[in-house]
Amino acid sequence: MQSTPVPMLTFVGGAGTVTGSKTLVDTAAGRILVDCGLFQGRKKLRLQNWEPFPVPADSIDAVLLTHAHLDHCGYLPRLSVLGFKGPVYCTEGTRKLAGIVLPDSGHLQEEEAAFANRVGYSKHHPALPLYTREDAVAVLSQLHTVDFDAPLSVLPGLQATWRRAGHILGAASIGLHCDDSDTRAVFSGDLGRSTHPLLLPPETIGPADVVIAESTYGDEEHSATNPEEVMAEVISETARQGGVVIIPAFAVDRTEVVLWHLDRLVATGRVPNLPIFVDSPMASRALGVYRSEARAGSLEFRPEVRGSELFGSTQLTETRTTDESKALNSRRGPMIIVSASGMATGGRVIHHLAHRVGDSRNAVLLVGFQAPGTRGDALRHGARHIKMFGHHYPVRARVVSIELSAHADRSDLLHWLATASPPPDIVYVNHGEDEASSALVEAIEDRLGLDAVIARPGERVRFDRPVAADREGSAPSVRDSRWQASSGM
Ligand SMILES: [Zn+2]
Repeated sequence: MQSTPVPMLTFVGGAGTVTGSKTLVDTAAGRILVDCGLFQGRKKLRLQNWEPFPVPADSIDAVLLTHAHLDHCGYLPRLSVLGFKGPVYCTEGTRKLAGIVLPDSGHLQEEEAAFANRVGYSKHHPALPLYTREDAVAVLSQLHTVDFDAPLSVLPGLQATWRRAGHILGAASIGLHCDDSDTRAVFSGDLGRSTHPLLLPPETIGPADVVIAESTYGDEEHSATNPEEVMAEVISETARQGGVVIIPAFAVDRTEVVLWHLDRLVATGRVPNLPIFVDSPMASRALGVYRSEARAGSLEFRPEVRGSELFGSTQLTETRTTDESKALNSRRGPMIIVSASGMATGGRVIHHLAHRVGDSRNAVLLVGFQAPGTRGDALRHGARHIKMFGHHYPVRARVVSIELSAHADRSDLLHWLATASPPPDIVYVNHGEDEASSALVEAIEDRLGLDAVIARPGERVRFDRPVAADREGSAPSVRDSRWQASSGM
């Protein structure tokens, strides 16, 4: 036993923040990485993408992905550039969506470096991209598809099982079973809401000794108001005035959810059947994946959606080229434009806002989380002007916010954790800002009676079976030593 290294987890990203999700798993047989996310958002965080990776990239035998959002897979091309040449295991949906978002991310990294070189703000000369589009395309050949609910041997003595997380297409929680210690660790990945209109809710956890749980909304409960009522009123009213409804939406999944609601509103006659334009190349490609998977009857979808043609009631047009997008400017309302990015930080939606936000007949419908400092957040808080392309534009359009989150809220997270059977010895809370993580830890302890701690960046913990300790007696507590954190890598 002494000669066998104990299985260890190391939280190298996504701890203390909602991006950069990465956890190393070391066993006697090798080393894997669960998720390989990009740090995003504030500059201080983004700079972490440039720091040396904590272990040699070529010491990692395999990467396991929970889903295709960049904060969970966007570092992969970089890891490959640094020398990781092993397999990347993920579900079919994740493979297809990663094939869209990773090359796009590489393209953006290149554009950012080119911009830095033009205006000379980089410390490095010349400024280099974190990775290129070509690097991102190259790493796609390392992706291997796994089936949901089918254990896969990822290392000798280490089985991984992907279970539906209901967050976006392909999203999974990952359970790891270590044969040597006969213990199971379950990574939540990002969990969806039980109310996702297209996807089935998250699967149960099943047996788990250790759970690593996300806490993006660990301190929030989503509003219970029906978003369709608000959408119906805004669209009908704007249509009466001959105006345009602009809906900034994240390209992957949120666009599909918005369209699903629009489809129902049209099908039931609650809004006029206006022309709808999806104006985002990435959203169009993701839409193609959702449509083909639904048509093929993917079991990730709700039964009523399987085998169907999505959004059949609407007059939907996808504008692919820049010229088609620009042509929308001269088109008169009423109509609906769904365009990325969801927080109006970039993408084609900025052009539409610049063109339409000054007209009181139009409306901007915000459908998701708006990070502080973004244009979406400014609009949500009633800004009188927003700045785009160096100009301040007056906001005269009506601005309305609804909640179509792809993320589980606190109740959803607790509900999912309660499905662990038998209950875990400990829950490590990660993937959240400090306040959200602390609130979730408290709720897990108070309401579920489980031990929970916040995963700290760089922290190492064991996931073998803890020695029996007498909780009532003098044995040390779970937190103090049974799941002992050790220092160093
Ligand atoms: Zn996600």
